[in-house]
Amino acid sequence: MATYTDTQLFIDGQWKDGSEKRLTVLNPATGEAIATLAHAGRKDLDDALAAAERAFHQWKRVSPLERSQIMRRAAALMRERKEEIAALMTTEQGKPLVESRIETLAAADTIEWFAEEARRTYGRIVPARVPNVTQLVVKEPVGPVAAFTPWNFPINQAVRKVSAAIASGCTVILKGPEETPASCAALIKAYADAGVPAGVVNLVFGVPAEISSYLIPHPVIKKMSFTGSTVVGKQLAALAGQHMKRVTMELGGHAPAVVFGDADIGLAVKILSANKFRNAGQVCVAPTRFLVHDSVFKDFVDGFVASAEALKVGDGLAEGVTMGPLANNRRVDAMEAFTADAKAKGAKVATGGERIGNRGYFFKPTVLTDVPLEARAMNEEPFGPLAIVNRFSDYDGVVKEANRLPYGLAAYAYTTSAKTMTNIGRDIESGMVSINHHGLGLPEIPFGGIKDSGHGSEGGIEAMESYLNTKLVTQAV
Ligand code: NAD
Repeated sequence: MATYTDTQLFIDGQWKDGSEKRLTVLNPATGEAIATLAHAGRKDLDDALAAAERAFHQWKRVSPLERSQIMRRAAALMRERKEEIAALMTTEQGKPLVESRIETLAAADTIEWFAEEARRTYGRIVPARVPNVTQLVVKEPVGPVAAFTPWNFPINQAVRKVSAAIASGCTVILKGPEETPASCAALIKAYADAGVPAGVVNLVFGVPAEISSYLIPHPVIKKMSFTGSTVVGKQLAALAGQHMKRVTMELGGHAPAVVFGDADIGLAVKILSANKFRNAGQVCVAPTRFLVHDSVFKDFVDGFVASAEALKVGDGLAEGVTMGPLANNRRVDAMEAFTADAKAKGAKVATGGERIGNRGYFFKPTVLTDVPLEARAMNEEPFGPLAIVNRFSDYDGVVKEANRLPYGLAAYAYTTSAKTMTNIGRDIESGMVSINHHGLGLPEIPFGGIKDSGHGSEGGIEAMESYLNTKLVTQAV
């Protein structure tokens, strides 16, 4: 197991301390300080910008095959280092070790998939109207990218942006998550050790608003990509818009999970509860509003509550733990506030609803039922181990409720009727709809939202597109 140590910045191929005072990293299972983190000042950002700019002119000329080979080595290193990276992630983020291992291995898959796509950034030839003209449509990397990633999946959120960027021939300045820096830095180390040249990938930490307000408008940066809350996403998208920068926004959600009367209830309970409480519910695509048909409501709630109560909550490093602490105290405060507000407005607490102990950031897996629409939890993303289970009686009513919020990231449905599957897949306003299974987040399929959940994709061929410019070259001979 790796020992948790201080994290540095990575700029122009060098690990270094920042010019500002170091930040403290806490273990969410204990609330205790475990290490420090280098903090970037203006000079560090200027160095990263200069490196990303210089490296871009070289990296874009490296053949896609060579880029792909380097990236494959990075994927292999992630697999080799799985145990030590997973231990770092659990120590700083809290999720059970098994989830950290899965995230580390999934990162290797993502790197490999984008490595393969690097070789398929095809253009096309458009037939011309006259015989002596050739019309070429070519794909070119957009340039240096500023990427901002959060603490819930310290590697997974970063690997998609960085891999798509460097596969396309772009360079990146990644502002990683200050609360969970070491595992994110381990990802960057894998790229560097694999042979990604100096300046192609840079990692900084600091005060998020200071870094984004400096990097996004900066003339060197040609695109930005952000994963985080809708509130912050709107501010950053506005800033990017003022400076005409390309944008990918992967923001919050409040995913409806519709369970119809003809569903396999055992299957629905098993898959939905596992995905509700994974990463202690701090997942942008977590099912959060369970809308269950009256005829199966009691069976579903009984099964779901039993699954919640069967979870073993504790330090993610301990054997057998299936749900760790929340990543920070803000989330515990938020869970308490959501629960108190829902109870005051008439919701029932079927299980949980309170903090566990006074050490670390633990909160009981919680199920609220019959939650009124005016409760905060029905309108704001819970982002924690809090499930809302409400009932419905007719198709139109449940579609209206599923689409009521401004979010549109993920949605789920359980039914055995082919007709209902087709209808719900069509009628739900969401970037992703997963029916009778949890099928989101693989490298080869699109991943992204609509409405206030953002725009752009972080998976599939669409993810590469957002790092490429389309250029027309038309020539007459
Ligand atoms: P927050 O809104 O302060 O931060 C969310 C993320 O955005 C963090 O990574 C933070 O570093 C970054 N951020 C904040 N302000 C920024 C700025 N001006 N420029 C650049 N980056 C900035 O809130 P939080 O307490 O960390 O998380 C709370 C909410 O954020 C959650 O309830 C959830 O809705 C959302 N969130 C979403 C995701 C996701 O995967 N989409 C991940 C983490 C948090």
